[in-house]
Amino acid sequence: MKILVINCGSSSLKFQLINSEDENVLAKGLCERIGAEGSRLIYTAKDINKKEIDKELKDHTDAVALVLDTLTDKELGVIDSLNDVDAVGHRIVHGGENFAHSVLIDENVMKAIEECNDLAPLHNPANLIGIKACKELMPDKKMVAVFDTAFHQTMPEKAYMYGLPYEYYDKYKVRRYGFHGTSHSFVSERAAELAGRDLEDMKTIVCHLGNGASICAVENGKSVDTSMGLTPLEGVIMGTRSGSIDPAIIEFLANKEHISASEVVSVLNKKSGVLGLSGISSDFRDITAAMLDGDERAKMTLDAYCYVVAKYIGSYTAAMNGVDAIVFTAGLGENNSYVREQICSYFTFLGLEIDEDANQSREDEVKISSENSKVLVFKIATNEELKIAKETLALI
Ligand code: AMP
Repeated sequence: MKILVINCGSSSLKFQLINSEDENVLAKGLCERIGAEGSRLIYTAKDINKKEIDKELKDHTDAVALVLDTLTDKELGVIDSLNDVDAVGHRIVHGGENFAHSVLIDENVMKAIEECNDLAPLHNPANLIGIKACKELMPDKKMVAVFDTAFHQTMPEKAYMYGLPYEYYDKYKVRRYGFHGTSHSFVSERAAELAGRDLEDMKTIVCHLGNGASICAVENGKSVDTSMGLTPLEGVIMGTRSGSIDPAIIEFLANKEHISASEVVSVLNKKSGVLGLSGISSDFRDITAAMLDGDERAKMTLDAYCYVVAKYIGSYTAAMNGVDAIVFTAGLGENNSYVREQICSYFTFLGLEIDEDANQSREDEVKISSENSKVLVFKIATNEELKIAKETLALI
């Protein structure tokens, strides 16, 4: 079966066409600057590496049309016709409390996704536009919605309730939802497989450390706590997001800087995190390079980052009364050995020991703990698209 995986942002559309039999990616790409000048598709398939196709893309329907035309193109394409696409899997950011699993998309599901727009105003409307565009161009195809929040719906109340007046939960569903669920689920399953252990009998802490970052406690295959909250702003320090701060800082800064609360929140989302702390970049490669050049603020930034991640790992170890495996994934988790080593250095008290050579490996899936370590540590490349394709296949 061939599954088309679609991930729509407000002005972008990422896709992968995946062959479910051998899990190969037949083609993938990114439409960017949708609705703006200079829109284009960057397309990769067998023997074609990042071909840039410039085309006016007024909206997401134009973008989906260009993707479908390219996939079936005589020269660039990888399939003869759209009949070869068996189903479409859509990444949806927020499913609120409505979705604890992936679902086949129908009118009711689309309405329920729309009801969550308030909770993810930057993402859900774009995700819906992607669904509508695909429906318009492929009305007969089965489509599946895979939610970033669904995996975390197993969290117990004590983990998802905030210490706020209960009426805000009743009226507005203000609670922890968590994100990156597709990644946390994929990576925790792979960790159990690599460990040769039963997922149903394992306590794993997944550190998804990318530009956005979240930590997740996975007990017996289920998410029991996670660091992101009502929105992706909560939790660890990120590329440009502050992560958790004293909520009173918002009013304090609004008064001092003569800006609105929403402007402060915009600073917390876009100008904070390691970008704000270091004053250098949101990219950890630049910050690590600056630290190696002797930049003190870059060193402080990385120290603060690793410390916060370690504190979450510590608290989730308590939440699960133990930890069998810690897993690093996403751009930074997969590629930055210094950050992995620094974070792990907080857990020698648990008998955790890193194998320094293994920690330098460039392989996608590596056990980086030593043979004597009391806690397993892995770095595992996440693959959200493959997980979405598998969920889609299971439902059709
Ligand atoms: P993601 O959001 O998962 O794409 O992760 C993006 C972040 O991962 C970037 O900001 C980089 O700091 C980091 N990253 C990606 N590739 C590398 C690499 N080869 N070495 C170190 N950091 C990397």
